[in-house]
Amino acid sequence: MNTPNLAGIGMTSQRTRERMIASLLEKGIKNWAVLDVMRTTPRHIFLDEALSHRAYEDTSLPIGYSQTISQPFVVARMTEAVLGNRSPEQGKLPRVLEIGTGCGYQTAVIAQLAERVWTVERIQPLLEKARRNLSLLSVRNVRSKHDDGSLGWPEHGPFDAIIAAAAPQQVPPDLLSQLADGGRLVIPVGSERGGQELLLIVREGENFHRQVLEAVNFVPLYLGQVQY
Ligand code: SAH
Repeated sequence: MNTPNLAGIGMTSQRTRERMIASLLEKGIKNWAVLDVMRTTPRHIFLDEALSHRAYEDTSLPIGYSQTISQPFVVARMTEAVLGNRSPEQGKLPRVLEIGTGCGYQTAVIAQLAERVWTVERIQPLLEKARRNLSLLSVRNVRSKHDDGSLGWPEHGPFDAIIAAAAPQQVPPDLLSQLADGGRLVIPVGSERGGQELLLIVREGENFHRQVLEAVNFVPLYLGQVQY
């Protein structure tokens, strides 16, 4: 089962979550599968208690170690982009790779739309936090590891979708080579100062079609330096 178990977590935040969904719709999110999953996924459990009252504002928030939980609109946009025109008859995305697990919120969202998810995080305590959060929601189709995600996870590729939640200066070649034919990669690229673009790259054989989705503001993707 990929549906999170909400028993015991309480539905007190359901109304504020509905407001978040209304704001995502207003901002142009159209995919109902994505909106439905975000309507039922409790974002507040991914935050420290002092910030949990802000969980359904459409904003990124600190999660420690100088990192942030992604803004709900950006999570929705990225998830929508990797799903593309996938129809319900086509079922869930078979294999998804995520780079930058952070607190695990995006992981929990994509895990409900995928058969299996592999996720890589370079900061060990954040990875442990994400594992606790995912287990609290009974998300069981995710495997995670502490490593440099710019290398992907070659043993488990090729992937139908890859989502990166941190921005490199350029697209890491290993991520391109681990995309399946027809696979979709969503990744922010650029620097914190010079501006970043959220790219959608779709593989067709040896051709990689690029499309710019949005101007964005992600934390940097660090190459080759695993921490803690
Ligand atoms: N989707 C996450 C976003 C976390 S912020 C959430 O909503 O919580 C981005 C994450 O990418 C941070 O946790 C950061 O540590 C991680 N990161 C940065 N460079 C990385 C790399 N090379 N490999 C794996 N993770 C990386």
